[in-house]
This record gives sequence, C-alpha cells and structure tokens, in this order.
Amino acid sequence: MNAENLIFKLYFQILIVPVMNISIIGTGYVGLITGACFAKLRNNVVLVDIDKKKIEMIKKGIPPIYETDLDKLLLTYKNRINATTNYDLAVHSSDLTFICVGTPSKKNGSIDLSFVKKTSQEIGIQLKKKKGWHLVVIKSTVLPGTTEKIILPLLEKFSGKKAGKDFGLAMNPEFLREGTAVKDFFEPDRIIIGFYDKKSRDVLKKLYKDFSCPIIETSLSAAEMIKYASNAFLATKISFINEIGNLCKKINVDTYEVADGIGLDRRIGRAFLDSGIGWGGSCFPKDLNALITWAKNIGEKPRIIKSAVEVNKQQPLKLLQILKKHIPKLRGKTIGILGLAFKPDTDDVRESRAIPIIKQLLIEKATIKAYDPKAMKNFKRLFPTIEYCSSAEEVLNSDAILILTKWDEFKELDYSGKTVIDGRRLEEAKKARIYEGVCW
Ligand code: NAD
Repeated sequence: MNAENLIFKLYFQILIVPVMNISIIGTGYVGLITGACFAKLRNNVVLVDIDKKKIEMIKKGIPPIYETDLDKLLLTYKNRINATTNYDLAVHSSDLTFICVGTPSKKNGSIDLSFVKKTSQEIGIQLKKKKGWHLVVIKSTVLPGTTEKIILPLLEKFSGKKAGKDFGLAMNPEFLREGTAVKDFFEPDRIIIGFYDKKSRDVLKKLYKDFSCPIIETSLSAAEMIKYASNAFLATKISFINEIGNLCKKINVDTYEVADGIGLDRRIGRAFLDSGIGWGGSCFPKDLNALITWAKNIGEKPRIIKSAVEVNKQQPLKLLQILKKHIPKLRGKTIGILGLAFKPDTDDVRESRAIPIIKQLLIEKATIKAYDPKAMKNFKRLFPTIEYCSSAEEVLNSDAILILTKWDEFKELDYSGKTVIDGRRLEEAKKARIYEGVCW
C-alpha cells in the first residue's frame, strides 16, 4: 500500500470509526433525540424500550413522536442506530448506558421512580455478566440524592459489583425543549456532569468534547438539583409575568410592552416573559410538584414554587372568564379550539393548557371543534368524543375561537368577522371582529 493510500485509509477510519458505543434506555422524547443526535456525532447507538411498537418503528427509521428534524436524523444515521427490547444486547455492545426513562408524578404529586428502579435493576443484572468497566449515566430527571441513594445501591445489588471501581456512575441532566430539541442538543447553554468517580467524569468529558458550551462538573446531587432549580425558575418566571399580565389587563396596559421593557434589564432577560395561559408539558408540572413534596419531606415549605403552581392553575380559566364576557351562556354554543399541544412544534399534550379549558367547556355543555397540526392523535386518547377537524379553517366556523397553542400555520388564517379569545398572543388574530387576549 503506498503512502497516499495509507493516509486515505487512516483518514477514512477516523471518519467512520465510531467515537463511542452508547446504549440508551427509554426511547421517549429525551432518549430517542439523544440517541439520534449522538449517532450524528459518529457514535454507535443502541436504543432500548419496553414498548415493542416504538422499537419496531425506530427500526424502520420512523420516529414514534413528532419532533423537528428527528425523522431526517433517524433515516440519515440508521446504520449507526440499533433498536431493541433486549437489555442484554444493549449493555454488552456498549461502553456506557444512559437512563432516559420517564419519572412521572404519582397521584399525590411525589415522583414515581418505578421505571428508574426497574431500569437500574435490569442494568445491574447485565453488569453482573459483563466483563470490564461500564458507565451508567442518569439523564432522567430525579430528585437530589436519588442517583446515590437509590440507583447506586440497586446497581450494586443486582450486579454484585462496586460503583466507582467495577462500574462508573454519573448524572447528566437534560435541558432540551420539545419542539427545538435537536437544535438544543447541538447548541446547549451548558452541559452538567455530576459524577461519582473521576473515570466516569472523564468518559463523559470525552463524549462531549466537541461541544463549545461550558461544561460544569458537580456532585451527583448538585447535578440533580440544577435540573429542578432550572425548571422551577423558568416556570416561576412565566407565572410571574402572567400575574403581571393579569394586572396589566385590568388597567389597559399592554403586558408585552412591559415584558420588553423589563426584559432588556440584563439581570432579568426577555426569555420566558410572554404572558398567556400558562405552562404545561411533561416537565414543569411534574417537576415542580415533585420538588414541593420532596421539600416537605425534608422539612421545608417552598412558598414561591407553590405560588407559581397556583397561578398556573388559575391562568387557563382566565381565558374562559373572558370568553363568557362575550358569550355568557356556553350551553349549545360551538367553541373552536386552535391548538392542543402544550406548545408549538410538538405532538406532546401532557399537561397541555387545553386540557383544563376543554374540561370546563364540556362541563358548561359547549360543543367543541378542535384542531392541532400534530397533537390530535394524542389528544383523542384524553378526549375521544369532541369533534376533531381536518383543517384549522374548519375550526373558524364556530361561535368563538380560542387560540391555545401558537402554531405558525394559525397565522395564515382569515380571522375577519370572527370572535377570537387569544391565549398565546397571535398578532394576526387581532384582525378578528371581536378580539381579546388573556392578559392584553
Ligand atoms: P417519555 O415518557 O416520552 O419516554 C420514556 C420512555 O421510557 C417510554 O418510551 C417508555 O416506554 C420507556 N420505558 C419505561 N420503562 C422502561 C424500562 N424499564 N426499560 C426501557 N424503557 C422503558 O419520557 P421523556 O419525556 O423522554 O422523559 C424522560 C426523562 O427525561 C424524564 O425524567 C423527564 O423528566 C426528563 N426530561 C424530559 C424532557 C422533555 O422535554 N420531555 C426534557 C428534559 C428532561
């Protein structure tokens, strides 16, 4: 082989040889997006889920969820992405395993760790059989102390091995936002590496070596707390501006002008100051509830966080109060709903503000016509009997229209002659015959 060929071969190998072999447990929003993005960065990825349907779809390169650009990533990098229900295959063919299973709320608001515990047990069983060192990284949102006091003992018990010696342990919280998750993965504000042992820290630093953002090294519990504190702060910021928005509405002041005015203060910042009908989604509601119940258990009363939750409960109902100014008796009236997803560019309806609004409209015997570009399939599982329209235009044929999610396509509609009550500040809807915003 001549020198040129050798250089080419080496160059080619550097390009195609994967950086790391990664397994990911849980192929929901976080696991699937993390996996697809790591594959783009030349890593080999094995995705594991107990949901066979999801695994079959991923194997075909079809994302089981809607997220911008995810379909392209799954197709482009399908040769680096494997999907299975088999932990054995995943742990034994990888150097590190991310835990990305759900951590939902129990009925009393406390965190449900059953998926995390089951996963830890399954990984432990595989570690027992595995020769050599392996890194376990928690990406699921878990309360401070969980990785060290619950996950570590389970891994040790089922593997018969010692953390920090036979296997590594780290906590790497996820900050992606649904709708812009792929972009967020590649352009994070920061990466947090909470670590139990230095080897684990070093492996994660290597995995994230191409990222230019600050990489913060912390204890396991600090990493866990950073995630909760971030979500609690952001949710509080929205509840704060909604409270200011409610005051502004009373005195005829445009709350968005106020937001622009305070947002320019560098200590405050403009992000998360768009008042509206409040926050939903799979994270803020459950994480704030988990934090509140956990705080009680350690003898603290988190008053600010509790208030943020309280404001958020009331905010969607404000929209209905405004609607009733225009249509006092809702019985028999047709109310058009534009938007069911908890935010645009996702099909996720978990804790969507559309839920309490539609519940109340049904109690008051209104007829509902709803449309969402991506979330109708998921919403149908919660409300199977309301009418779902095949286009946004169809919704316009109603006694009043409520805008609940700010999808771009709603900007194109002709609102003239309509009654619109807006929960998301869609400028184009101001052309309606009657237009009112929740806080403006
Ligand atoms: P999700 O509910 O969309 O997905 C979880 C997946 O885990 C499901 O596909 C489920 O079938 C699978 N699963 C459950 N038990 C399993 C097991 N024993 N083995 C294998 N798979 C199993 O959840 P998500 O929204 O991706 O969130 C995952 C975690 O990440 C949560 O802790 C969440 O709080 C956190 N998080 C979520 C977001 C977000 O925007 N969705 C952002 C940051 C952090």
